[in-house]
Formats: sequence, structure tokens, C-alpha cells
Amino acid sequence: MSQATNPNQGRPIWLHIFFLTLTPLASVILVPWWVMTYGVTREEIIAMMVLWIITGMGVTVGYHRLFSHASFRTPAPLRFLAALFGGAAWQGSAIRWCSGHRHHHSKVDTDEDPYNVKRGFWWSHMGWVMFENPRGEVFDNVPDLKRDPILAFQHRWYMLLSVGFNVGVPVLLGLWLNDVGGMLLFAGLVRVVLVHHFTFLINSLAHIVGKQPWSDANTSKDNWFLSFLTFGEGYHNYHHAFAGDYRNGTKYYNVDPSKWLIWSLSKIGLASDLRRVGADVILRRRFEESLGRVQNYQEKKETPIELQTLCDDFILAWTEFKDEWATVLRTSSKAQKKALKASRRRVTGILKEWELAVQEFTSRPKLSYGDAS
Ligand SMILES: [Zn+2]
Ligand SMILES: [Zn+2]
Repeated sequence: MSQATNPNQGRPIWLHIFFLTLTPLASVILVPWWVMTYGVTREEIIAMMVLWIITGMGVTVGYHRLFSHASFRTPAPLRFLAALFGGAAWQGSAIRWCSGHRHHHSKVDTDEDPYNVKRGFWWSHMGWVMFENPRGEVFDNVPDLKRDPILAFQHRWYMLLSVGFNVGVPVLLGLWLNDVGGMLLFAGLVRVVLVHHFTFLINSLAHIVGKQPWSDANTSKDNWFLSFLTFGEGYHNYHHAFAGDYRNGTKYYNVDPSKWLIWSLSKIGLASDLRRVGADVILRRRFEESLGRVQNYQEKKETPIELQTLCDDFILAWTEFKDEWATVLRTSSKAQKKALKASRRRVTGILKEWELAVQEFTSRPKLSYGDAS
């Protein structure tokens, strides 16, 4: 058998195979039948949406940005809620999830990346969940999480907690609203399936479709559409470039509800030490990435329109930086202002380098920037 020789695929986990196959199938069959037989109530839709938000953000804010990347700090009761709600998304304990995710970041696109997209869409989407990891369950890259009593507790009692939440909450809502079947179907089954596949899309589609403004050294992509389904996780190319940043979409117009929630929690004293990459570091990365691509285009003798687009991109990034800088300057302390002034000096330096680079390229006959307009 070929799978025996594959170092990335252990034995099948039948429980996962049945669960991941039967839950979408049951949804597709039961929802039309239920709607045609009983109709659908506003309460069913609201309960499904609210539990989607709570458990989806349990994954994005809790499992991902808080536990995997430690991009902010929060008091123990909130860590507990993050573990409870993230666990209710039925994607494994936080320790298991974060261990796999840290491997994904450090070994992206290689055999050791658990959801290596180079093995195809289905493997990165859900195939990887269906097989044992042949390297075993060591979780040696999450010592900080194993020390956390809340996460150790959640790991130990994961099955009980997730089954209890996913069955218990819909049943309680159903008893309250006299609609146990509808709540189990919409707020339980359908919601779990939706959160599963929206999360899986980040491992699959966000490594296949989208733009790469920050780096093309790996397959990750910025895909704004996926951010609507995953509370901001669609800016995946930025995330792979700056994984410790509590934001995935840095611009004010980027849809990143996870960032908004963390920021809001910090304003009421429930989150602290929000890690963010400095605007000058971001601009420097953008500059180097653009420059590298212009050089590639130059070598391949591609159209000057590409250079025009990159210049526009850079000018946009620069304008945004200036806006952000002006806002921060109005509100920040003396020390922050001093740091920002140094940051601005560095950015002005980058701009000068960029202008020189553009001049150099535009003066070459094969790639005339002036001809593009
Ligand atoms: Zn990724
Ligand atoms: Zn990550």
C-alpha cells in the first residue's frame, strides 16, 4: 500500500473519518427536510450565528492568536473561556491544535507541515485530520501551553467538554424555546460543520488563491474574502510574514473582527501586551518584496504595467503609514513620540531608496515607467 511508504501519513483514524464525512452529509440531507417539514425559525438562525461567532472566535482569537502565537495576554478566566469556546469548534484540544499549527509555521510547505498544501487541496483542507501523524503525539513545541493548568485540564477532558458544549448548549436552548430538534440541527450540527470548513479553508484555500504582497517565499496568500468567514484570518500571507502580530489585517479597512475584539478587550483592561509589528518594519518588507519583484520582471522583460502596479502599491503603503503615524502621534506619550520619530526617519530612508530604485529601472530602455501612462 502506498500510504505505508508515505512518511507523512500514518494509519487512518476512523472516528475522524466518520465524523468529518457524516456531519456534512447529515447537514445536506437534514436541513432541506427540516425546512420543508417544519420551516426555519428566527431563533434557530440567531442561535446558529451566535454559536458560530463564539466558537469560531474561540479558534481565531483563542487557539490561534492567544495560545499558538502568544500575540497578547489575558487573565485566567478569559483564557478558560478561550479554551472552552475553541474546544467547542471540535478541532481537537488547544495543545494538539497549537502544536500542529506551530509546525505549520516553522515547516510550511514541507513534509513536516501537517497541512502541507503541496500535497493538494483535499489533504491540506481535511485529509490530514483523517490520519495519524506518523511522527507521533509528542507536542514538544508547546512546552508553554503544557505548563498552563487551564490548557492541561482542557486537553485531559477535551472530549467531555466539547461533547458537553456541542450537545448541552443546543439542548438547553431547545428546552427553553421548545425546539430541541431545530436547535440540535442548526446551532449544533450545521454550525459545527460550517466552523470546521471555514477554518479548514485557511489551511487549503489561503495557501492557493490570493495575493502575496508580503512574501512569495511560501504558498500563503492574502485572501480578503476568507476573512469574512474566519473573523479576519484571510490575510494569511501577512500572518506568515509576521506571525506574532495580534493583527492579521493591519489596515483600517481590512476585515479583521479578531483584531477588533482583542483591541476592544485591551481598552477595557481584559487584554494586554498586544504585539504589533512596527509600521516601518512592515513598509520595509513591502519595499523589499516589491523591489525583488521589479527585478524579476526586469529580468523576464515583462510589461511596465507591472512596475506601475508595484509603485502604486508602495505609494499606498507609504500613504497609509503617514496616516497611521499622524494618528498615533496625536495620542501617544512622549517616549512613544520619540520612538515614532525614529521610525519615521527609517521610513523616509526607505522612500528615498525606493525613488532611486524606480529611477534606475525607468531609465532602462526595456522597461520604461514613463511609457506606462
Ligand atoms: Zn498557513
Ligand atoms: Zn498562525
